[in-house]
Amino acid sequence: MSGVGTAGGGRDAGDSRRVDRRRIDLHTHSSVSDGTDSPSELMDKAVDAGLAVIALTDHDSFDGLAEAAAAAKRSGITLLPGMEMSTHLHGASVHLLAYGMDTEDPALNAELQRIRVGREDRVGPVLERLSGLGMQISREQVEAQAGDASSIGRPHIADALVEAGLVGDRTEAFDRWLHDGGPAHVERYTTELPAAIDLVHAAGGKAVIAHPWSRSSREVLPPEVLAALVAEHRLDGLEVDHHDHDLQTRRELRALTEELQIIATGSSDYHGAGKLDHELGCFTTDPAMYERLLS
Ligand code: AMP
Ligand code: FE
Ligand code: FE
Ligand code: ZN
Repeated sequence: MSGVGTAGGGRDAGDSRRVDRRRIDLHTHSSVSDGTDSPSELMDKAVDAGLAVIALTDHDSFDGLAEAAAAAKRSGITLLPGMEMSTHLHGASVHLLAYGMDTEDPALNAELQRIRVGREDRVGPVLERLSGLGMQISREQVEAQAGDASSIGRPHIADALVEAGLVGDRTEAFDRWLHDGGPAHVERYTTELPAAIDLVHAAGGKAVIAHPWSRSSREVLPPEVLAALVAEHRLDGLEVDHHDHDLQTRRELRALTEELQIIATGSSDYHGAGKLDHELGCFTTDPAMYERLLS
């Protein structure tokens, strides 16, 4: 893997925008999961946003990484291969970012396949709930929104509701119907967090908990639980700088990473048109932390 020193350049030659070669965004989604840009489009936009390094971290899938790698090579940006894995701890959802793993690892791929099947199996029951609430949309309408995504998710159901004129946007669909515990929410299979960390490590990757204190997850992942995950499972880091964390939360999380001597990352969690307030590079990762992630 090339280091930060070799990143950047390419299309930016002659651009009036100053390219900060150290801008590193380690959490983004393409249309392989619930983002709206293809992996190639995403790499082009990352260059335009002045990023030197980008990680593609689609939900529960590596399927966008080959296309992203080819596009990144053309445009001179450094791609860190990643993935955001659906896990749970004590019944609550936790997202785990994996970086630099062997994407052919059989055990990890088998587990991701199981998660993706759970995603497919959940669509029908969610549509039944929605129907019971007076909102009729078909599986075909959801599949039309998902396109050839490997990882079908609630955002695609939200998009189908928007397309049918039943809600104004994804946010309204989540706020009214699809949020965790909401009227049309249905659980799906996810991996236990400690087992997921172990699987990522066995595949040679680093494991970083995504937006650990977003929404209600602070209660699920208090400092003592995070400390135990570091001590017992060698958790590598926490995503500190993220749209879902306010300034105070980011300060507390950063202090915790220092205390636990683990990596602190920052990223956009870009989803293209799917999440308008998450533009590429809105949060970035310190180059020294990125180097630790590569080591
Ligand atoms: P799923 O992968 O099907 O469990 O759906 C979770 C995904 O939905 C997350 O990765 C986000 O991209 C998106 N999401 C979750 N909550 C919201 C929300 N309140 N508004 C918009 N998108 C959301
Ligand atoms: Fe998402
Ligand atoms: Fe997430
Ligand atoms: Zn994400």
